[in-house]
Amino acid sequence: MEVLSLPKRLLPLIPAGLLVQQVLPSPDHLTILATPRPPSAACPDCAVLSRRVHSRYDRTLGDLPWQGRPMSLRIRARRFLCLNPACSRRTFAERLTGVTAVASRQTERLGGVQRCLGLALGGEAGARLARRLAMPTSGDTLLRMACAAGKSGEVPRPAPRVLGVDDWAWRRGHRYGTALADLERNVVVDLLQDRQAETLATWLRQHPGAEVVLTFKRSSQRLSGPTAALRRAPRLVSSIRASSVACC
Ligand SMILES: [Zn+2]
Repeated sequence: MEVLSLPKRLLPLIPAGLLVQQVLPSPDHLTILATPRPPSAACPDCAVLSRRVHSRYDRTLGDLPWQGRPMSLRIRARRFLCLNPACSRRTFAERLTGVTAVASRQTERLGGVQRCLGLALGGEAGARLARRLAMPTSGDTLLRMACAAGKSGEVPRPAPRVLGVDDWAWRRGHRYGTALADLERNVVVDLLQDRQAETLATWLRQHPGAEVVLTFKRSSQRLSGPTAALRRAPRLVSSIRASSVACC
């Protein structure tokens, strides 16, 4: 494998907080070796800063593709000694804030893109496009990311004034949920586990405020008729043609 040493200033596009050490290219993949930039880290229990390194270990994270090739960051991370005698923790692993979450195997920015694919296309279709875009992942993973986004509030949840209701594929051809979108801001606001009318009714009761509910043609046909929930909406417009609704 060819090894390139590039000046650090030539690689400003990796996540902030990392220093590039080496670039390892191969015909179908790119690996960047990096180290965390901060000289110290705060103990997660007592918040006291420490510079005393106990040991080092490697973390490999998937990252955004470069020039159509999947890319990985191999980070030489550190475990620090907590120097606070009153703290019960002896050592701690540094947090890669702004790069990735604890125990995650990908960067936050790659996760954000994949989450959008999952929200927009569902599991299997999203995974196919992700592979085509050199961000390979599984359909199940995309679904987990989409659901986690909804539960964590990353996807804004207040009921929009103009609410769009459409099918959303957990697994295309097998299992569908319901996607709810703010059609004025053109963003997905929530994902429901199924496409049953009662599930939508419950959501509408929990999120009052929608003035107009737009159901797309295919989902309005699959819903079991005009439900009490939809009738309670101030105005229902159904059978509009599907349009693109972005997320994030
Ligand atoms: Zn501590």
